[in-house]
Amino acid sequence: MRKLRKGIVLAGLLLSLLVFAACSNGEKDDGNADGKINVVTTIAQIAEPISIIGGDHVAVESLMGPGVDPHLYKATQGDIKKLEGSDIVFYSGLNLEGNMTEAFTRIGSKKPVLGISESIPTEKLLTDEDGAIDPHVWFDIELWKTSLEAATEELKKFAPEYADEFDANKESYFKMLDELLAESKDKLAQIPEGKRVLVTAHDAFGYFGRAYNIEVVGLQGLSTEDEIGITDIDDTINILMEYKIPAVFVESSINQNSIKAVIEGAGKQGLDVKLGGELYSDAMGDAGTEEGTYLGMYKHNVNTIHKALLGEGN
Ligand code: ZN
Repeated sequence: MRKLRKGIVLAGLLLSLLVFAACSNGEKDDGNADGKINVVTTIAQIAEPISIIGGDHVAVESLMGPGVDPHLYKATQGDIKKLEGSDIVFYSGLNLEGNMTEAFTRIGSKKPVLGISESIPTEKLLTDEDGAIDPHVWFDIELWKTSLEAATEELKKFAPEYADEFDANKESYFKMLDELLAESKDKLAQIPEGKRVLVTAHDAFGYFGRAYNIEVVGLQGLSTEDEIGITDIDDTINILMEYKIPAVFVESSINQNSIKAVIEGAGKQGLDVKLGGELYSDAMGDAGTEEGTYLGMYKHNVNTIHKALLGEGN
């Protein structure tokens, strides 16, 4: 059953030691050696768009790389140094990076540390049956624009001299996001309504489902800290049987065993369910590849789901 996340005391202790060490390096600087604003983010879904919006004036680094699960992530000593050395920290928030709360609070007393998705109006957020907020807001393009807008405003506050440039970059990037949304709607609408069921390992696609009218079944809850029971697997198999869903999906940052158990279980009951492919849920692809960008990651997911639920997967 769902467990409440606890702050990690050890991380806090470690952090205070490192904060103390870092303070001896002197005053905070307004940018790194090459004069750029040094931005550190938790997830790459923030880092990559901010590198576009910030343009030449920012150097952006994401702490969590491909395949990394933000729900379970704990800041390393190296991360703490990066956070300490940054000018601005952006995280997504809504308890996505639940084990880093302590670090954000401490570092936030010295520099702008912003949970960008906490700017989204509460009524637009999804909650689970226990009232926990779904933090996977980047899958609703409109909501993600709100988050990126909040980050852009923070950049403008930090460097008002570049405000016009940031706004112009943001506008042209948002235009691409609008196109992505329109394309995704067109494509996913091609899946017959009865087949619009997305089965994944954990419940990361609630906003995606809401945006494109797809029913979402996650074996695990909103956080990967939740446990998976046999009944979760059995219930999922029953849904697949009922709707004759052709495919289920694994996620790049999640162990594949639960989804494989579903495929196997369905097979025993005579339903041939295929592995529809790998989706990027909480992490993106490798930097330097298309899937390492927000737009590319999103398109990959849309194309993979489209192909598999139309029964064209392998
Ligand atoms: Zn997640």
